[in-house]
Amino acid sequence: MDSPYQVLLYYYYNRFPDPEAYREEHVALCKKLELRGRILIGVEGINGTVSGTPENCTAYREYMDNHPLTKGMEWKVDDVEQHQFPRLSIKVKEEIVPLGLKDEDFSPRECTGEYLNPVEWREMLDKEDTVVIDARNQYEWELGHFQGALLPEVESFRELKEWVRDNKDDWEGKKVMTYCTGGIRCEKFSGFLKREGLEDVYQLHGGIVTYGKDPEAQGEKWRGSCYVFDERIKVPINHTDDAEIVSRCRHCNTPSERYRNCEWSPCNSRHFCCEKCEPISRGYCAHACYEAFLGSFASNALVE
Ligand SMILES: [Zn+2]
Ligand SMILES: [Zn+2]
Repeated sequence: MDSPYQVLLYYYYNRFPDPEAYREEHVALCKKLELRGRILIGVEGINGTVSGTPENCTAYREYMDNHPLTKGMEWKVDDVEQHQFPRLSIKVKEEIVPLGLKDEDFSPRECTGEYLNPVEWREMLDKEDTVVIDARNQYEWELGHFQGALLPEVESFRELKEWVRDNKDDWEGKKVMTYCTGGIRCEKFSGFLKREGLEDVYQLHGGIVTYGKDPEAQGEKWRGSCYVFDERIKVPINHTDDAEIVSRCRHCNTPSERYRNCEWSPCNSRHFCCEKCEPISRGYCAHACYEAFLGSFASNALVE
């Protein structure tokens, strides 16, 4: 049976000579097609995820597939029950992937790691002398990741550069494998690893979401779920009997994939909170945040 909506995930590295002009025509197109979602446009390319009806998503893909700037782009398509975004947001950014390289920036079209398809990736995971690096953020990692993968100790993707420079000596002579949600971060990150002097660098082509759809790989060796940037929050990847929940409730440590942002807005920390702990924690990530909220309330009252 056909689903009433689809969600598209895509990116394309290509030189966009005039991102502002492209944005204007793109806003008109997406409005006409009643798409919702987030799209970033930069001189280096485009990165987007949108939802809409299957007819409109198809029309959008046809337009992009025939546009000289985005011809050859790959699409990840999922069936969903409704729109997965509250609105449409299209922005022009300096970097469509925030690696914070500034004047060291480069195009992955010039330098990138070797692509592995899901089956090749799964096979290489079994080999010795490999290092697997997760090129995502900590909150994404916590929901799920590849068995044995390294989580860079950084606050954001932007800090990866320094972390690589501090650790790359340990990876010399090994096969360095890197992956991310849809592939966009790894095209650049794997290129960066090569530019840092590492020779054997590989990337998972199409990212985790493609891996989870491959009928042969079946998402094997993936633990937990995959974080996605739409209202679904997570999608299943591992379709073998080994599927499991790896994330844990912040309060009682039972397995839980239920995301929550701390109610104390200065904290806003993304954490897991199980159903049972919801009424007890009142949505705060820690008791200290609840107390901070009460304290702010008291001091506001005094001012009045
Ligand atoms: Zn709990
Ligand atoms: Zn908090």
